[in-house]
Amino acid sequence: MVEIKNLVKNYGNKNAVDDISFTIQEGEIVGFLGPNGAGKSTTMNIITGYLSATSGTVTVLGKDIFKEPMAVKKQIGFLPEQPPLYVDMTVLEYLSFVFDLKGCDFNKREHLNEVMEKVKILDVKDRLIRNLSKGYRQRVGIAQAIIGNPKFIIFDEPTVGLDPVQIIEIRNLIRSLGKKHTVILSTHILSEVQAICDRVIIINEGKLIANEKTADLNRVVGQSAKMKIKVAGPNREVLNMLRTLQGILRVESDGIREGDTYSYLLETNPAIDVRKIIFNALASHSWPMMGMESVEAELEDVFVRLIQSTQGKER
Ligand code: ADP
Repeated sequence: MVEIKNLVKNYGNKNAVDDISFTIQEGEIVGFLGPNGAGKSTTMNIITGYLSATSGTVTVLGKDIFKEPMAVKKQIGFLPEQPPLYVDMTVLEYLSFVFDLKGCDFNKREHLNEVMEKVKILDVKDRLIRNLSKGYRQRVGIAQAIIGNPKFIIFDEPTVGLDPVQIIEIRNLIRSLGKKHTVILSTHILSEVQAICDRVIIINEGKLIANEKTADLNRVVGQSAKMKIKVAGPNREVLNMLRTLQGILRVESDGIREGDTYSYLLETNPAIDVRKIIFNALASHSWPMMGMESVEAELEDVFVRLIQSTQGKER
């Protein structure tokens, strides 16, 4: 559906996008993640045809964005970080203006009603945009992106500046749009990707460092696993002993105490089954193990590790 091949963008000597390739299948919701300055906006702006590339190709539904920009732009809906809303227009006036601008050949009244119903703004259609809350304005921004029924929608940081209730509403809306459209969601918020996306593409310093199913990412990285154990025994001595064991990379006491039982958070080498090692070591001190559970790694941890590991390789 969308194919990006060897994309490069230089600003003078600065390599903002450095040989990125990936494809997106129809119906996928893909998260495009990276810290500030990673090259996300530059890539999005090239895909949407707002910026030229230094080299490489972008194909949307078989058409080259650089050779047939008008045809490709028709297939793409874009919600920039700052949507271009005209605040002195009513919602309906503005959407009608966007409809004309895009040169859509649907029945206007029907199509705009359908769009407003989809993003749930029918009740504010005659209000001036300037009088809308930030959450409603963002819905209007999404409405302008989906006018013309583009196959492919790009959202750039769609929940920045929204309150927690609005964030949940906008995420639900994006997820529901993902049923009919192919979606790229550019964000620096990892939990947003976990909540919405099927797949994650991570870039750093213009380079692609991961392209994985959201659920697989933790496993693929797998440089360490986390577990929590509870031990009945003297806190400091247990802590010091655990730190000497094979396969244990880090130990922290998390301060939770039930009687003489303390709990500990362990980071372990996933290549070694540390359960027996821990069990035997505790038994030899007669410190009973009262519980053991594995802890799902946060995507945040995974992200930091990925960046560290790619930097490590370059050195
Ligand atoms: P992100 O969206 O991930 O924060 P950007 O794509 O905005 O990253 O920027 C990538 C890199 O390119 C950054 O180092 C940024 O400073 C640089 N950059 C972006 N736009 C320009 C420009 N017009 N001229 C020079 N450098 C730029």
